[in-house]
Amino acid sequence: SSQASGSVFAEGWLKRVYEEKPVPVRTRFPPEPNGFLHIGHAKAIAVNFGFAKHHNGICFLRYDDTNPAKEEEIYFTAIQDMVRWLGFEPYQITYSSDHFDRLYELAEELIRRDKGYVCHCSRDEINLQRGGKDNKGPRFACGHRDRPIDESLEEFRAMRDGKYKPGEAHLRMKQSLTDLNEGNPQMWDLAAYRIVEKNHHHRTGDRWRIYPTYDFTHCLCDSFEEISHSLCTTEFFLSRKSYDWLLEVLDFKVPNSEEKGPMQREYGRLNVAGTILSKRRIQMLVDGTTVEVKGPDGSTTTKTIPPTVRGWDDPRLYTLVAIRRRGVPAEALLNFVRELGVTDALTNIQITRFEATVRKYLERSVPRLMLVLDPIPVVIEDLPEDYDEELAVPFDPKKPDGESRLVPLTRTVYIDRSDFREEDSPEFFRLAPGKAVGLLNVPFSIKATSFTKGDDGRVNEIRAVKVESNEKPKAFIHWVSSKGNNVIARRYNTLFNSEEPNALDWKEGGWADDLNPDSEVVHREAVVEPGIDLLMKGHAKHPNLASDDLVRFQAVRTGYFCIDPESEEGVPVLNQIVTLKEDSGK
Ligand code: ATP
Ligand code: MG
Ligand code: MG
Repeated sequence: SSQASGSVFAEGWLKRVYEEKPVPVRTRFPPEPNGFLHIGHAKAIAVNFGFAKHHNGICFLRYDDTNPAKEEEIYFTAIQDMVRWLGFEPYQITYSSDHFDRLYELAEELIRRDKGYVCHCSRDEINLQRGGKDNKGPRFACGHRDRPIDESLEEFRAMRDGKYKPGEAHLRMKQSLTDLNEGNPQMWDLAAYRIVEKNHHHRTGDRWRIYPTYDFTHCLCDSFEEISHSLCTTEFFLSRKSYDWLLEVLDFKVPNSEEKGPMQREYGRLNVAGTILSKRRIQMLVDGTTVEVKGPDGSTTTKTIPPTVRGWDDPRLYTLVAIRRRGVPAEALLNFVRELGVTDALTNIQITRFEATVRKYLERSVPRLMLVLDPIPVVIEDLPEDYDEELAVPFDPKKPDGESRLVPLTRTVYIDRSDFREEDSPEFFRLAPGKAVGLLNVPFSIKATSFTKGDDGRVNEIRAVKVESNEKPKAFIHWVSSKGNNVIARRYNTLFNSEEPNALDWKEGGWADDLNPDSEVVHREAVVEPGIDLLMKGHAKHPNLASDDLVRFQAVRTGYFCIDPESEEGVPVLNQIVTLKEDSGK
């Protein structure tokens, strides 16, 4: 199926992009190494690598590392890990910073061609030149725009050599600021180079005080790497003109032609409703935060909000590290992107749709086991104390001849609290006093005879007997023998009660009042059948999941789970990947 649906990279929008420029395909995925990748980036990775792969082309992983103030070493490693996790191998890993010398030379060349000038205007002055508030006013040039070429060159070198402080000078492109017919604000003399305060760069050290902007860097790096199709998201649509302009004035591209140089085209972002993807917001969830809250009388108080999640890879988040930790197979995530297709429209998707794709994928690819989240012991009185049988049960009920495990049966078994009722009723088909129920995979049914309660008022033991009848029970429940393994199972729900957490008040910390107290439900006493040991040794693994170390299974009647990489005091931890059905588990 991945083969057939892989053609999404040759259909529709991407087909048209290729037809516009049918040349050997060279693309790049260009993240800024200033944070962890999220579910939206999976689309960017799939589009760039998938399009190249379909056309037997190549795709670079390019770190767009032009802002040393925001970049950190850990993100470089994390980004590569995620690209590889998704099954792609970059043709080459490159860095915008590899090209700092060449970019600097081209900036000087831009000035020499009278297409760049050093400007000393403040942010406010520049806004005014661009028509002021809402860009409604007249546009005009500042005095620096017409300064002699030599003076700009000298000032640019002075910027480089430390004569100015941040904000005191920057290099601007001499685009169409003064052309009153040019309605595209991305052509109003954008900045090309600026002085950066926190300027220590992880790769070039203290060599540079000035750094090139996105608008200057991106198109040129695309040219250096001979990118054929530069695919980005639609927010960059207006930037396309500036992209082409710079390449044309520096002779990397021919006006109104795609005969040389890269071609930028824009696809729609992937937004998943209800997810928090903003770095700043996730940081607040990870670290906790202190906010200033304004009272109605104008007074300010401080509010401290403790951490909400365990880290950037907490399974409730939608960073790629979190999605992986939750147990979602990479191939299921790619299926999700493929199913949505690629167009130039924004794709706004409900999280339930993502979960449905994951569920569908897991249904075909993981073994089944019995897991009891909230166990109550049931003593089957007519079995002897030392009863100890083993039932051979296939991991996949649809493949009776496939690999199986031995399921021990003992006199005491555990069933889930939700499968027992103290009082029977006609519409209830599971275990209750006087009522018979089947135990999955067991050749006889059982009937409850009595139960006892603990000091907390909760049922703590059920007594039962075998039912000798040829009649098939109305329902079967899952169970685990006393030889089962204790595990800690974590189930996840949405982090917020609101369906639009991004619309909450993030400034004054109002989001904290909307946190869902049940976003993580932990079952510390859960028991799973010993067959899990076989899975941990690599048994019953679907070939599609072979590249991945995680152990996943369907807990029958309960949900899909994986084993978390970290245990708690020697007890394995399970993460629920998704529920069994769309509306269960809330
Ligand atoms: P964010 O601010 O959310 O991290 P970004 O645009 O700053 O997003 P980059 O690291 O610059 O992230 O992005 C790398 C590539 O991924 C860019 O080409 C960008 O357009 C693309 N991308 C980012 N977010 C999405 C998304 N939600 N859907 C599709 N592509 C995306
Ligand atoms: Mg980013
Ligand atoms: Mg960015």
